[in-house]
Amino acid sequence: MNRLRTNPERLRRFLTEIAAFGATQNGGVTRLALSDEDRDARNQLKAWFEEAGCETQIDRMGNMFFVRPGKNRTLPPVLTGSHCDSQPQGGRFDGILGIVAGLEAVCALNDAGVTLERDLIVVNWTNEEGSRFTPGTTGSGVFAGKLDRQAMYGLTDRDGLTFGEELERIGYKGETDFDPRPLHANFEYHIEQGPVLERQDKTIGVPKGIVCLRWYDVEIQGVPNHAGPTPMNERQDAIYAFSRMAGQIFDIGLASKDVVTTVGEVHPSPNSRNVIAGHVHFTIDIRGWDETETDRVCKAIEEAIQNNAEATGCTVDIRQTWAVERAPFHPELVSLIHDIAGELDLPALDMVSGASHDTVYINQFAPSAMIFVPSIGGRSHAEVEETSWSDCAAGADVLLNCILKTGNDAADVTYSISK
Ligand SMILES: [Zn+2]
Repeated sequence: MNRLRTNPERLRRFLTEIAAFGATQNGGVTRLALSDEDRDARNQLKAWFEEAGCETQIDRMGNMFFVRPGKNRTLPPVLTGSHCDSQPQGGRFDGILGIVAGLEAVCALNDAGVTLERDLIVVNWTNEEGSRFTPGTTGSGVFAGKLDRQAMYGLTDRDGLTFGEELERIGYKGETDFDPRPLHANFEYHIEQGPVLERQDKTIGVPKGIVCLRWYDVEIQGVPNHAGPTPMNERQDAIYAFSRMAGQIFDIGLASKDVVTTVGEVHPSPNSRNVIAGHVHFTIDIRGWDETETDRVCKAIEEAIQNNAEATGCTVDIRQTWAVERAPFHPELVSLIHDIAGELDLPALDMVSGASHDTVYINQFAPSAMIFVPSIGGRSHAEVEETSWSDCAAGADVLLNCILKTGNDAADVTYSISK
């Protein structure tokens, strides 16, 4: 079958020019949500999309929707896109690749003289990273009805500036909402942010979904005492208890083929060199594709924590503070990505996404799938983040043909979102 192709030079130019907004010394970008750099990048995107014939819509969360009209505007549209904010000293590809590839798809359709049956919408979701304003994926979360807009307006950054004021300041607080629902299909094209594709020498990653997640907060209570006179066998040392627990949490994750376990935050107190710690607060992040295996790992970790508390004379309080079920993508859209990759002679790999994305929210009400391309060295959220230009173009070709297929689906074609 004859497949359309994107223009790799133009895609590279878009990516290079947009990377100037917030460019860092070492080749990365710092483009925090609702900063001047974010505003400037948004202005550039708007100019490019409008030049390519799209209409711009901005909702009350500052989400930007670039609409390329189809023949039948009453049909549910096809959505693609990602985010243009970055981590501090982040990379040039995370998020922005998915928007700019959507722009390139629009240009390639224009070049080929193709008007789709359905509207094509390329979106820039506000504040995916959650670095300046926590939590992240706020734009897509509010759009999905899962986060409260007023509450998000009230988020503050380190300087005490609020999300709502900053959104207004950069001129991207829309006065009304834009709601193109129902959506026919949603594709998010993103860098992998891990090492799997590169290691297996594959160009296209086809995640079947996003892993499930469990968060824990753990409080260990020991007895604070003087580091000198207290005999070793009479200590209830909360840091000792913690270190035994942390070692086992790592080992349990290592032994599981599916699940990853991370102790990311540790707060000992009093955190003084000559005091035996009386208390430790730490967090655990547990993720896996298999819910049963993930729950088994959670149980094993809870037991290990209890046992080590007892063995060290400490007491412990374990709380599961967040649990998110895995998010399987739409099987037909996942196999469409596979088929198109095959027709384009691009080696593809079934995988799961270990990271969260805006599509986690969109997937809850619209048939969704994602397209990954390799991250060189598996590095991301860092200035060294890199994807080869040819891989960027390969993923854009897959995206373009997914859009071409679903954008031309007849009125009676639907992808149900039953799980
Ligand atoms: Zn991202």
